[in-house]
Amino acid sequence: MSDCLFCKIIAGEIPSTKIYEDEFVYAFKDINPLAPVHILVVPKNHISSAAEINSENSSAVAHIFEAAAKIAKEQGIAEDGYRIVTNIGENGCQSVKHLHFHIMGGRKLEVTMG
Ligand code: 5GP
Ligand code: ZN
Repeated sequence: MSDCLFCKIIAGEIPSTKIYEDEFVYAFKDINPLAPVHILVVPKNHISSAAEINSENSSAVAHIFEAAAKIAKEQGIAEDGYRIVTNIGENGCQSVKHLHFHIMGGRKLEVTMG
């Protein structure tokens, strides 16, 4: 999608700090980290949110979680634990309309579900 921020980041049109990349997945540092480790993992194909996952594109989610497990180990947060979050739509406070999973760790996170 030409006007999508994360599509532009994936294409290298907007700079980012790359953490991981393969055929299906791109991962980069969040510009406004909320934890010592805060990485965004996105599918290379544009999917607007987790609400748009269907039988045609759901393999993207499996790839993302495989990548996230690798990334967490490489970042040294796997043993102590971390959080993976995806926000959806207005009430979920999704600000970028390209599916992304936040990986956050490196400190004890607050116990909150909203
Ligand atoms: P959301 O609020 O949609 O769940 O998460 C969007 C995330 O993207 C936010 O945590 C925000 O800090 C991050 N973000 C927004 N613009 C940029 C950018 O240009 N570069 C990077 N690396 N992260 C961004
Ligand atoms: Zn996009």
